[in-house]
Amino acid sequence: SARRIYIITPTYNRTEQKADLTRLAQTFYLIPNILWIIIEDAEKPTFRLKKLLDSFSLPIVHLNYLTPGYLRIKITSTNKFKPPRAMFQRNIALNWLRNNTKSTEDAIVYFADDDNTYDWRLFIEMRQIKNVGIWPVGISGRLAYERPICYYGRVHSWFRYVAIHREFPIDMAGFAIRLGLIHHYKYFHFNVSITSVGLLESQILSTMTTINDLECLADNATKIYVWHTKTNETYLVSNEILQSLNMVYNL
Ligand code: UDP
Ligand code: MN
Repeated sequence: SARRIYIITPTYNRTEQKADLTRLAQTFYLIPNILWIIIEDAEKPTFRLKKLLDSFSLPIVHLNYLTPGYLRIKITSTNKFKPPRAMFQRNIALNWLRNNTKSTEDAIVYFADDDNTYDWRLFIEMRQIKNVGIWPVGISGRLAYERPICYYGRVHSWFRYVAIHREFPIDMAGFAIRLGLIHHYKYFHFNVSITSVGLLESQILSTMTTINDLECLADNATKIYVWHTKTNETYLVSNEILQSLNMVYNL
């Protein structure tokens, strides 16, 4: 039987949320033996999201944690700084795994943001991981793809452009980790800080593996099975009106 994959997805309320999560759910219908851990960026789990998740009939755990205000910086014309996102939510999911799974379970942990695009074959690849697997991520880091350059299954160097100070220059969607390592490094958590942008991947990978130990998947990291897509924010005539309708009709 296929090794279980724990999929960690942070999400937050916005107009495009249902569309993004529906697309994700329909990919996950193709994957046997997953548990989808969804962490809502909210003070309480919302009924709106719960209804959607219930309608999927997938194995789902619905958690929540509200990102504090100092990390919720909106991008404006004067301020181009984009704070790192969903750090708390991913930490909540790691702790949930430590408290609700056995360290001996032979399973895989993967961080899947809600607006990316996933080929079902990625999850076939992931099940071969011994400790930490890595693969290309399409449309990422201002390139058509970012990827490790691999020889005989090991990382030789990196194809990347932005933020060259990253020790592991790959997006969160570009790797997965054996569950036992999450238990073993039981105090690891993403460093929740305004300066963590672009560094979260290096935080977890440098704790749990080394570049030499990474296992290149997807045909020696030559195939793209995941894209860092972004859903455009829709301009709504009146957000206020829509929000009041949401509350009345639970749209
Ligand atoms: N996210 C969140 N709270 C926020 C913003 C984002 O939980 O206030 C989640 C979002 O749903 C996604 C992940 O964090 O799963 C990354 O966010 P986003 O896709 O906006 O960032 P980008 O891919 O552009 O870096
Ligand atoms: Mn995204």
